[in-house]
Amino acid sequence: MAKPTARFDSLAAAQGWSASDSPDGKRDKKAHPAFDIEKIFGESTFGLTEMRARLPKPVYKALVSTVEQGTELDPTVADAVALAMKEWALEKGATHFSHWFQPLTGSTAEKHDSFITPNAGGGAVAEFSGKELIQGEPDASSFPSGGLRATFEARGYTAWDPTSPAFVVTTAAGSYLAIPTAFASWTGEALDTKTPLLRSMHALDGQARRALKLFGVKARRVLATLGPEQEYFLIPEEYYYRRPDLVMTGRTLFGAQPPRGQELEDHYFGSIPERVLSYMMDVERELYKLGVPVKTRHNEVAPAQYEIAPIYENANVAADHQQLTMITMRNVARKYGLVCLMHEKPFAGVNGSGKHLNWSLGTESMNLLEPGDDPHTNMQFLFFCVAAIRAVDKHQGLVRATVAHAGNDHRLGANEAPPAIISVFLGDQLNDVLQQISENGSAKTSKQGGLLGLGAPVLPHLPRHAGDRNRTSPFAFTGNKFEFRALGSSQSISWPATVLNTIMAESIDDMSTALEAELAKGTAFEEALLALLAREIKEHNRIIFNGDGYSEEWQQEAGRRGLLNLRNTVDALEYLKEPQNAELFEKYGVLSHRELESRHEVALEIYFKMVNIEGETTADIASTMILPAAIRYLNELLAVADRSKTLGVTGTGVLGTVQAVSTLVDELRVSLDKLVAQNAELGGDDLESKVHHMRDNIVPSMLAVRSAVDRLEKVVPDDFWPLPTYRDMLFVK
Ligand code: ADP
Ligand code: MG
Repeated sequence: MAKPTARFDSLAAAQGWSASDSPDGKRDKKAHPAFDIEKIFGESTFGLTEMRARLPKPVYKALVSTVEQGTELDPTVADAVALAMKEWALEKGATHFSHWFQPLTGSTAEKHDSFITPNAGGGAVAEFSGKELIQGEPDASSFPSGGLRATFEARGYTAWDPTSPAFVVTTAAGSYLAIPTAFASWTGEALDTKTPLLRSMHALDGQARRALKLFGVKARRVLATLGPEQEYFLIPEEYYYRRPDLVMTGRTLFGAQPPRGQELEDHYFGSIPERVLSYMMDVERELYKLGVPVKTRHNEVAPAQYEIAPIYENANVAADHQQLTMITMRNVARKYGLVCLMHEKPFAGVNGSGKHLNWSLGTESMNLLEPGDDPHTNMQFLFFCVAAIRAVDKHQGLVRATVAHAGNDHRLGANEAPPAIISVFLGDQLNDVLQQISENGSAKTSKQGGLLGLGAPVLPHLPRHAGDRNRTSPFAFTGNKFEFRALGSSQSISWPATVLNTIMAESIDDMSTALEAELAKGTAFEEALLALLAREIKEHNRIIFNGDGYSEEWQQEAGRRGLLNLRNTVDALEYLKEPQNAELFEKYGVLSHRELESRHEVALEIYFKMVNIEGETTADIASTMILPAAIRYLNELLAVADRSKTLGVTGTGVLGTVQAVSTLVDELRVSLDKLVAQNAELGGDDLESKVHHMRDNIVPSMLAVRSAVDRLEKVVPDDFWPLPTYRDMLFVK
């Protein structure tokens, strides 16, 4: 007998939730008034306000100077901070503390220790020393190190990052204190994503302040800023746990196209279903408590797809907050009978999920990528803007490599989201200003947007932007920041940000050096600057593209311009090996040669493992779920055919169906055998050949199996089909 079917699941999935039995609905309505954002914002963090209230003045001052100016922290303040932090955490109900860090897996890690220390009288007291705050010693041997550490050298250290506030995590059963930390090997090499990010911010700060000095601006500090927009899917957990592919790999490895996908264009910005909206509000409330300034929510393009975005923050805190956002989104979903999918391509045939990384740099009082109304007069802006363009052109391969991973191969260049070719979009106004400079040596005008009349007298006239938006560009100037759109939805933003900061530091450095040399010769500032800008624009003009990035013509045009088109992870990761990139990171103190090498190796390893798991999961599901279902159906058909024959009933319908199903079963068997053989082989001993085997053999073989399975899904009876379908998963809300 067939098992309970997807039909029954759908009903359960839809009924598994109602407004009144949501976690909030359960509470007395009166106990759940509209919450006071200002009051709860940051209530679970040990931020500057809390520190000011609890710390001796000199200690507080030392901390502020580290947080705000990036100065080195006097280690003697640690004991005082630890004491205050512990008291605060205990008041919040915490029983444990944890150094919270971000290993090269791309996610976070934590190990909890209780505050409890036995005392002489047989009781226990809560203790937490400065040493415990500053340094942790997790066993590093089970984290990816890319050869930086032999397995017998297990020691690793975590080091307190005082510039990102500690926070208390609360569950129904209790709370613990989490302390953001960096993670390094016993030999002092970074094993995490935070350390190089902090180093890159330091490099950028130094170079940007040096350049600002040339403009007569004295800044205390220049900070890289990040605002990451996160796309995600929500599906009922009823389905999730019935899809071993989602559980094992985060994406569906099978699934025929439903009759309806996203073609009606009715989901994007549509009215948010109540269950989902309640979820979003709950997520936001939790994030507010953690001091994460989430701001925007909306439906995305694909059915069951949504987006959340915060207000930007300094790069380090933004990166920590982005991790907290993903963790919170995953956790809260379960309260609503939902599962939050962060994979780049959970469903074939509808849009995948990306993470747009808005990136800029600024002083205490000004955003250095703010053009103002007349960019042609804003020389300082033009300097930084051209530096960014130059950086991206010079380091296309590296920039592309920062977003290279197995999940993202389904998006980049796959006819949606940005293409795999890295280019820069500037918009009409800015493009025009830069072309004026490169052609005439200076710019005299900035195109203005003017006012937009809508033709109905009751409607206001709208100020129109001087340039349109462009959805297809991987690196687009969007008003006062660049938006790097090629990130995958599941990935940490730290590494892309690290690279942007580093290549920007280099560009600013090179351009400042050139400018300083010219000034030393006695050339006037404006003249020297314009000549420099004109030269740089000419040299890097090829990276600027304001047209349709999805078009075939762009692929060809980019080829003619000599731009890279790295279509998959394996090709893109090659760029981490380039000697000039190793020198770049070393020069700005961001990564040593060995640290960079290790990152390359870890990225390859992760690619290999992910695709390998997908290959095995495909084979498992096809062998143990799909093939048996198809054969059961065939058996049923054959029984009918047999009886028809006995009874002398003639007709071609049954036999025709037998034939069709049988042909598909043959096709599945053949493609499955091939995949199983390739899974067994693994591609040799060294990592490079394994990775090539995954890309060149496993990926196409999985697709062949999928093709047979998806066609079977269209003919095998619904009550025989063992997996929830796209029709179910994407539309039950
Ligand atoms: P859009 O919807 O046009 O992409 P938004 O203004 O909603 O633009 O911004 C998207 C993201 O960009 C938000 O997270 C926002 O905080 C962020 N952002 C805005 N200004 C900056 C900046 N100077 N640096 C980094 N991110 C920024
Ligand atoms: Mg955006």
